[in-house]
Amino acid sequence: MTNSKLKTITLVGGGSTGWMTALYLSRLYNQQGQQVHIRLIESKDIGIIGVGEATVHSIRFFFAAMGIDEAELLRETNATLKTGILFNNWMKPVNGETHSYFHPFEQQKPCGPVDNASAWIMQNQRIPSDFAQQTCLSFNLMRDNLSPKQLNSAQYQGAVPYGYHLDAVLMARFLRKKAIAAGVEHIVANVTDADVENQQITQVITDNGHFSSDIFIDCTGFKGLLIDKLKADNWQSFEAELPCNRAVAIQREYSENTTPRSYTTSTALTNGWVWEIDLTNRQGTGYVYDGNRLTREQAEAELRRYLGDEQKILKATHLDMKIGCRKEFWVGNCIAMGLAGGFIEPLESTGLHLINLGVRLLATHLTSANPSQPIRDSYNRTMNGLYDDLRQFIVLHYCLSNRDDTEFWQQAQASVKYTQGLAEKLALWKVKVCEHVDVATGFSSIFSDENYRYVLYGMQHVPSINLPVTEQTIDAMLKQLNMQKTQATSQCLAHQSFLDKLHHGQNC
Ligand SMILES: Cc1cc2nc3c(=O)[nH]c(=O)nc-3n(C[C@H](O)[C@H](O)[C@H](O)COP(=O)(O)OP(=O)(O)OC[C@H]3O[C@@H](n4cnc5c(N)ncnc54)[C@H](O)[C@@H]3O)c2cc1C
Repeated sequence: MTNSKLKTITLVGGGSTGWMTALYLSRLYNQQGQQVHIRLIESKDIGIIGVGEATVHSIRFFFAAMGIDEAELLRETNATLKTGILFNNWMKPVNGETHSYFHPFEQQKPCGPVDNASAWIMQNQRIPSDFAQQTCLSFNLMRDNLSPKQLNSAQYQGAVPYGYHLDAVLMARFLRKKAIAAGVEHIVANVTDADVENQQITQVITDNGHFSSDIFIDCTGFKGLLIDKLKADNWQSFEAELPCNRAVAIQREYSENTTPRSYTTSTALTNGWVWEIDLTNRQGTGYVYDGNRLTREQAEAELRRYLGDEQKILKATHLDMKIGCRKEFWVGNCIAMGLAGGFIEPLESTGLHLINLGVRLLATHLTSANPSQPIRDSYNRTMNGLYDDLRQFIVLHYCLSNRDDTEFWQQAQASVKYTQGLAEKLALWKVKVCEHVDVATGFSSIFSDENYRYVLYGMQHVPSINLPVTEQTIDAMLKQLNMQKTQATSQCLAHQSFLDKLHHGQNC
């Protein structure tokens, strides 16, 4: 088959996936004159999932590449800034206090002859301390609720890497506006069927006409309406190792005198964990739980007990989640993107990030109207590798827990056995520092050795090491690091002050 020129792409689904993908492809192909006709079909009867409010830091590069003004994005989505995630209660209490640790986005800058992690490990053997607190600036920002952006920070730049908390519904609307302005054709219709010939979709059938296209992108959420038409038995479940398959989301008002936090919190409960995400105008919360152990009513009751103050609750929504991913994301001329392609529980806020990765990868693979099987295989192999990489990182949070107060937590530790090679790595990380080569698979979803160390050492999985370096050298290094952090912290605004300035018209 000869390669023919790509002329039309049709996306079905107008959630974050549909609009992020449409906008990206439109910027890619049509910035200097229309090369490819991009059309998005969405139903007005079937809503979007409407959760997905925390991001990782790399999402900034997506918005920057789309030419979006950062201040406009923040204003239009009621967004706040995020330096990382504070994990509470993932381990047994320590000295009667709730255990907590912080996972920032920050990449550490070495400040002496020994790497920072090894320096901390050696000092910690003499003087116990918190890893993130000792080694990273973001901890100070989280502790003091400061903004990661300084007054003179350029767009998408800050003192440390940061992501956002944003209103998912407003964000989909914002992206829709941008994509339509960039030339994407918007069709409001319900897709009722798709015609298939030789494992290729020839047209989608809607209550508002039939649409043919070279390429179809399935952005229909957990349904996977189009991809399912092309291939049966195309799903791999991760529920054996990650059994949380339901969520109940609750939006609530702020209590008086509470200001938005510049970090997400994840607090473990009896059968899963609760997210708390602070926007400028309200908080998004939700309990991600194992639906085989709790009913919807029990989960909602437990979440309401945890949140307290019923008066502040605005609305509750129950969601089923399919945890796993496609064996083949790209079949024939259809690519499953976003939730239609796969989902791993939102513990590290990676949903939008996976869309970002998926669409960027598509850009390098979609070279004609009829890409060859090796192209599809390459895309599928990489997407599967990214999901495996992320799955391992999420499993790490569970298998390191020493909680045994419920069956859910007793089983959590066994999740390690579903991730090939992780038990051996954990054994190694008891005798040496976790390094890049230990986790480099060639498929980095985003989480590197730095991220592993925050979780490992935050969850007390610390090696014993004895490098031939003097205590004085180590202490001097960490002291210098501390001084740098204090100096940088003094230049950061309170998170609320930053938001106030932004919403009063100052740019960021
Ligand atoms: C509980 C939970 C928490 C999450 N938290 C986070 C988080 O903190 N951070 C993060 O990055 N991600 C998070 N995610 C993931 C995130 O919500 C999704 O990745 C993101 O919203 C993209 O969803 P989507 O667009 O793929 O699907 P959806 O939002 O479900 O959109 C599907 C679209 O398909 C359309 N559609 C469906 N059927 C038809 C039809 N027959 N005809 C026409 N149109 C149709 C619908 O109208 C809709 O527009 C979370 C997910 C869940 C479940």
